[in-house]
Amino acid sequence: MPALNQQSIINAWDAITPDLIDDFGDAAFKSWLSPLVFIDVKDGVLSLSAPSRFMKDWVVAHYEQSILKHSNKNDSSIKNVVIHIASKNKKSDDSDTEPSKKMPDTKVSAIKNNEFFSEEDFISSLDPRYTFDNFVVAKSNELAYAASMRVTESDKPIYNPLFLHGGVGLGKTHLMHAIAWQIHKNHKKKRVVYLSAEKFMYSFIKALRLKDASSFKESLRNVDVLMIDDVQFIGGKDTTQEEFFHTFNALVDQQKQVIISADKSPNDLEKIGDRLKSRLSWGLVADIHPTTYELRLGILQSKVEAMNMEVDPQVLEFLAFKITSNVRELEGALNRIIAHATLIGRTITIDTTQEVLRDVLRSNERRLTIDDIQRRVCEFYQIKVSEMLSAKRTKNITKPRHVAMYLSKKMTTKSLPEIGKNFGGKDHTSVLHSVRKITQLIQDDHDLMTEINTLHESLR
Ligand code: ADP
Ligand code: MG
Repeated sequence: MPALNQQSIINAWDAITPDLIDDFGDAAFKSWLSPLVFIDVKDGVLSLSAPSRFMKDWVVAHYEQSILKHSNKNDSSIKNVVIHIASKNKKSDDSDTEPSKKMPDTKVSAIKNNEFFSEEDFISSLDPRYTFDNFVVAKSNELAYAASMRVTESDKPIYNPLFLHGGVGLGKTHLMHAIAWQIHKNHKKKRVVYLSAEKFMYSFIKALRLKDASSFKESLRNVDVLMIDDVQFIGGKDTTQEEFFHTFNALVDQQKQVIISADKSPNDLEKIGDRLKSRLSWGLVADIHPTTYELRLGILQSKVEAMNMEVDPQVLEFLAFKITSNVRELEGALNRIIAHATLIGRTITIDTTQEVLRDVLRSNERRLTIDDIQRRVCEFYQIKVSEMLSAKRTKNITKPRHVAMYLSKKMTTKSLPEIGKNFGGKDHTSVLHSVRKITQLIQDDHDLMTEINTLHESLR
């Protein structure tokens, strides 16, 4: 088995995600493990980061041993797992987890020196893969993309704020980081601060605790570009919301660029005061729509290319077709099949993909009902649904009935007895009989196969 290190195509964390899913199931994985972000493997330590302290504590208590076990199996040099909090920015998190490490004095004077947001922190909070070059543009995200590019080009803000919104995993953070990288590259002197809303609150609360809130505010107001990701999380926290509002106003007044992302449009944000809502809608509000098949395929192709891998185009098409929820899940699926292929030495086919991604595929299943299938099949063969569900045994009725049962088995996750029940209370054996019959017939009945393909296609 190849040893994995951070230079591998698949990092030590992605490599073990299939094992963790096997151990804990998809739901637990999604809730607790998928939010963890790989930092690095250094000196035998796998470092991960968790988005909050609570999450970290939970993971340590429930999953750390397994993470270590699987990591060590994949890469025997890994002897320990450390989970940091809140961001890829290890330094300040460490100083909070282990307060004894750093004297409070050092921290206070750092703030006084107005180094609250150092360049080092800034760089380490950005994902190097999230650039404009790596962002695939399509109709659904072209406005957000164009607006993001635009703010990096001009010196004075054109839209203030730029407000990006869209559902989970559609590329908001990717665009935010891309903007930050680009401004950093184009305008070296500009002071850009990128914070998750969580980090913003955390830094503010920390400053309050150190009785240095005013320095914190001051350093925030001295930036040229302020970016707050996932601003919906500020909702409900009155003091931080208030603080954010004032900072926001101060920056906009000074013609400093503010860039915000959220999962909803300003008006739909819950627990955000009306004043702030209207302030947030002043500039340009650009939304990212759900992905289309073409975009998903494009993203997969570009990821495969970036990884320098060869994957059968049919497998990519299959994934783009099946995994419609969001890009993060799509990427996760691609990483998983590649990890399996690399680790187990299997080539990737549609069959192995289906096997490896069983759980993901099931949760992405379009809710096609037996009802839909019956209606479509009846329409196609020009019979009535009531006839299909009756006990009639004439050939013009039995054939569509067999076909509909066959498609129900193939295209839904319903069991044989459930399907039988939906066909006027038939026994599961008669469903099985239909499925077998059609499976057998299409071997050499070319017309029937074409009919079924047509129906299948129209139902997808
Ligand atoms: P959000 O912040 O909206 O929840 P992210 O920006 O974290 O979503 O995106 C999730 C993943 O999907 C990231 O790895 C990102 O690189 C990828 N992604 C999303 N949209 C695109 C795109 N249009 N092109 C390339 N990658 C994308
Ligand atoms: Mg995000």
